[in-house]
Amino acid sequence: MAVIYHDEEANVDVIRGETIAILGYGNQGSAQARNLRDSGLNVIVGNIDDAYRAAAVKDGFAVLSLADASTRASILFLLTPDEIMPEIYARDVAPHLSPGKLLNFAHGYNIGFNLIVPPAFIDVVMIAPRMIGAGVRDSYVSGEGFPSFVGVHQDATGTAKQRMLALAKAVGSTRAGCLEMSLRDEATLDLFTEQAFGPAFGRVMMTAIDTLVEAGYPPEAVLMELYLSGEMAYSFLKIRELGMLKQHELHSHTSQYGTITRSARYTDLDSLLKQKMGESLEEIRSGAFAKEWSSDRADKIELLKQVRAMQASLPMTQWEDAARRAFRIGDAARRTS
Ligand code: NDP
Repeated sequence: MAVIYHDEEANVDVIRGETIAILGYGNQGSAQARNLRDSGLNVIVGNIDDAYRAAAVKDGFAVLSLADASTRASILFLLTPDEIMPEIYARDVAPHLSPGKLLNFAHGYNIGFNLIVPPAFIDVVMIAPRMIGAGVRDSYVSGEGFPSFVGVHQDATGTAKQRMLALAKAVGSTRAGCLEMSLRDEATLDLFTEQAFGPAFGRVMMTAIDTLVEAGYPPEAVLMELYLSGEMAYSFLKIRELGMLKQHELHSHTSQYGTITRSARYTDLDSLLKQKMGESLEEIRSGAFAKEWSSDRADKIELLKQVRAMQASLPMTQWEDAARRAFRIGDAARRTS
């Protein structure tokens, strides 16, 4: 049974008086820094000289270089993009570590796959939000909080867990609940969602679009029916609130009957999906993916650029743009941003 921590198990006083450095004032960094400060803690920011630095200054933080912030603080939140973190750690963080400091990660990837190996004399923990940065801030302000996966990788002080839970409480996560796991497991689950569930779900979507467009239905209507209307996104919210099967009751009887009786037609996909997902899981667990992604990085970033350019000219992207314009999807968001 999973262990889940809530506010009652955490005491912020354990870390009161310590200085926390947020290294990287991006999506997560800007949200977590403000939450920790609003919980009464002493927060400084370490960032390179760029727009994020200016944002941190505007938000009222003392902003130092990454190296100076690492020197000054006893608790370090490494919140730069994961792929450049090993380089930043080696250059700006590792030389300034001393016994008793604590290093916190928002994703278990670099520790889990041994791309960063900290010295034994510091605490190493993870508070990995299951939430984008904007949601981390909004749910703190609303009082709802956000769930996280948390774990202690290294306990040099004997108090790593108490310090981690204190930080999780101050950042607003124990309000919703913090599920304990190893950093490698957190990274594995995250990568599996991205590399197995996401692509498989994407193939289902693409096959449905192809089937309907080839049968002569207008592409805009097909995309609207499948996801552009927001009905599917709404159903996912209901799945979260009620459960996969219980949310069926919100749909019409025709819908319920059709879904239930026709589900069996697709069960022969199960064995193929299991096999493919098993392959993805093994590739992640063995460290093969992490090794692949760490090598020849420049070539891979170039590949991502080329794929993005190619995607922009695909018929589907053009159908989506036309339908979004016609139905004014996103207009409200654009007006308020
Ligand atoms: P961001 O991409 O938003 O930015 C992180 C910060 O790092 C920015 O201040 C950025 O400044 C800085 N940075 C980028 N490149 C460099 C560099 N070469 N040297 C120094 N600083 C640099 O990161 P996220 O907030 O998305 O991710 C941070 C961590 O949070 C990661 O571990 C991620 O896995 C984790 N996480 C992220 C979630 C999310 O929804 N985004 C959800 C849960 C966890 P600039 O770009 O101007 O250089």
